[in-house]
Amino acid sequence: MSEVVQTKLGTATDAPGTRGPSAQSAAQGGTSPVKSVDGLGQPLPSAQARARAVLKLDAPTYDRALDCVHCGLCLPSCPTYAINGLEADSPRGRIYFMKGLADGRIAASAAVTRHLDLCLDCRACETACPSGVVYHELIEETRARLAAQRKLSLTDRLVDTLSFRVFPYPGRLRLALLGPRLLQKLKLWGWVMRMPLAGKLGKLRDMLPADGPVWEGRLQTFYPARAPDGQRRARVAFFAGCIGSVLFQDVNRQAIALLQRAGCDVLVPPAQGCCGAIHHHSGRPQEAMGLARRNLAAFLGEAAADPPSAADLPDFIVTAIAGCGAMLREYDHLLPSVAAAQVFARRVRDISEVLAELGLPAPQRSLALTATYHDACHLAHAQRVTEAPRSLLAGIPGLKLVPLPESDLCCGAAGTYNLSQPEMARDLGMRKIRMIQETGASVCITGNVGCAMQIQSEARRLGVALRVVHPVTLLHEAHFGGDSRRLSSSR
Ligand code: SF4
Ligand code: SF4
Repeated sequence: MSEVVQTKLGTATDAPGTRGPSAQSAAQGGTSPVKSVDGLGQPLPSAQARARAVLKLDAPTYDRALDCVHCGLCLPSCPTYAINGLEADSPRGRIYFMKGLADGRIAASAAVTRHLDLCLDCRACETACPSGVVYHELIEETRARLAAQRKLSLTDRLVDTLSFRVFPYPGRLRLALLGPRLLQKLKLWGWVMRMPLAGKLGKLRDMLPADGPVWEGRLQTFYPARAPDGQRRARVAFFAGCIGSVLFQDVNRQAIALLQRAGCDVLVPPAQGCCGAIHHHSGRPQEAMGLARRNLAAFLGEAAADPPSAADLPDFIVTAIAGCGAMLREYDHLLPSVAAAQVFARRVRDISEVLAELGLPAPQRSLALTATYHDACHLAHAQRVTEAPRSLLAGIPGLKLVPLPESDLCCGAAGTYNLSQPEMARDLGMRKIRMIQETGASVCITGNVGCAMQIQSEARRLGVALRVVHPVTLLHEAHFGGDSRRLSSSR
């Protein structure tokens, strides 16, 4: 990083309270320093300063920034701080910047926005924070407000087009993948892989799983319960995800088969679409709200306008994709005045929670594997689901599950982060691979397809033999047999 902005709390090695003059100038975007300061050395915001601030936060969000008491307990859990040790790339530093922008103390200079952009929105700081700071709402609202003021490079525009106009639409994604998939079938993809492509474009190429159908099919709209004891235990609606339903449809099929075995009737609403996470985390709340409304209508039907009694609704809305699950659980926050959004959000569950709660019969097959488990941020930090997948995996005969150091430190995937910030994503990916190697495991298990793509592509880039799978893939193998290797993201 060529230019660094320090906060008043200093860099990792500075004593608290220090703030370099050149950094101060960068933070203020070249404006003259404000004279009056508060007890912590901060310039006091005047009414005029607040009025001309580039960042206008909603009052509740602004108040949440004030909840931060600068204790620094979140710093060790922040992935960007773990990589570069800069206070400006820590949760505390970013909160300081956001409050400074909202107070009109500093300008949204290139350096300031770069530190904010580098945040993965992984929410590890929320898990660590004793003061209950709801950091993600602060960064997401800040991004939404600053997005309109940005100038994008040509590559950024291309990545944005793919992120917002292609990935969220399974039909368009299938079309976009037609060429690469045909090249894979013709064994010409290896040639493309050797082509030198700059940062974001190269990452995009590397992320494509090595195997898959040329044209992925759709799921059925209904799958009946098939528990061995004949019991029907729940009626669930399944969320397949936009990228998930094209690149990881086999994981969806495995998840549905396990739900059936646990005694669930599984509905797959055909009108469902992207959860909106890519948009929401990138400062496009209006588009995220539109997608949320579409899913409310798809999953609740008439209930989206007027929620009926619980008897008319699915018991759970289930997904196997942690990033989507975290977003679906946030619909109540995204659409606070829509009653159906509250009903919807309360029913969302990760697949591991439902399988653990309803119970599966004992698996018939043994899997002689040594594996380790990576906690996807949007499962561990956003949904606070850590035990259910581990307990399900512990029930697989022969599977040796070894603990992964820093298991809940982000791998660098974070939605489209590995495209927008390829250098930090690569550093985090390398760190994750190093930790996995320390365990001696040959398989890494993770509950988010984005993490699977990131970890697998980093392993391949580094020449490390590693199979990366979703927990349901191993559960499916243990229950139904067969080598579902092709169904994972393994290369
Ligand atoms: S742990 Fe919470 S209160 Fe402490 S610095 Fe981090 S965000 Fe602020
Ligand atoms: S969301 Fe993650 S990357 Fe961003 S400040 Fe918090 S811990 Fe750091």
